[in-house]
Amino acid sequence: MEHDTERVTLARLPSGVEIATTVHTYEGSDDGPTVYVQAAQHGREVNGTEVLRRVHDRLTTGDADSVGADSELVGRIVAVPVADPLTFDRVSYTTPEQLDSVNPNMNRVWPGDSEGTLHERMAARLWEYAGEADAIVDLHTGSPDMLTHVVFMEGHEESRAMAEAFGTDLLLSEEAGDDADEEWAARDFGGKLRVAANQEGIPTITPELAFNKQIVESAVETGVVGTLNVFRHLGLLDEPVEPNGDPTLARNHLGRVTADDSGLFRADPDHAVGDEVEEGEHLGTLYDPTTFEVLQEARADRDGILYSLALESTVAAGDSLLNVAWQRE
Ligand SMILES: [Zn+2]
Repeated sequence: MEHDTERVTLARLPSGVEIATTVHTYEGSDDGPTVYVQAAQHGREVNGTEVLRRVHDRLTTGDADSVGADSELVGRIVAVPVADPLTFDRVSYTTPEQLDSVNPNMNRVWPGDSEGTLHERMAARLWEYAGEADAIVDLHTGSPDMLTHVVFMEGHEESRAMAEAFGTDLLLSEEAGDDADEEWAARDFGGKLRVAANQEGIPTITPELAFNKQIVESAVETGVVGTLNVFRHLGLLDEPVEPNGDPTLARNHLGRVTADDSGLFRADPDHAVGDEVEEGEHLGTLYDPTTFEVLQEARADRDGILYSLALESTVAAGDSLLNVAWQRE
């Protein structure tokens, strides 16, 4: 196995300072598929970066402590631990207006444009690697109030197989394009790396490991086993896929229960993400903190699996309070 690193300039800031990141390439002893893995395109989502450090140790030292046998790598892995250094430095989700007022969210511009806005240029540079791959894993980290899960495109069988190999307790299929609902278009989901790659025929998954801003051991372990499982599933490592959670298959309808008004939200303490809930089930109360007037009784909008429930209690009108995914076969 050969390991190389390359320092790559993604774009330059107005002052001339270059935005650069490191691309790792792990070249196996025999030919095989190429897998592109990146983390932290939303820079506060740091668990994926720690996952890639642990995967790096596993690949370069053969250290089998946590992940089983030390088989030889076949094919190639290209890994980018910090896909968006701008948001990484700001511990943020988006860039400030001064740097990219048109596309503050890097995960809305794929496959990018080398003559476009800052994020479009950065994505275009990384797409030179991602677009050549046979499969892509785009590691993200949800907020603490979100269940760790993996997203794949509805109807894309090889992406679904990768999600099943990765594991976690929830595999969430998402519709795209004309089949998706209004929210999908309104939120520019067509520019997600996963969606752009699927349109090029590259199987792709988006694991959402819980807890941004913190390296949380349970989320990292799920990510390490899941990432290695994808390599195993695709034949890069000659090892069986390891159990990684108890996956339930569900469908993301993208609809959310949002706050009718601004106030303080108390989530019912007897509910947690991962619970099966029924339509109409009471999940929390939104109230005016000065008068105690109840503004909204938040209820499940369908039968399914509660996969996010707001834990940051001060909410603004329109904020997401909870998400329920449809369970399916
Ligand atoms: Zn993200």
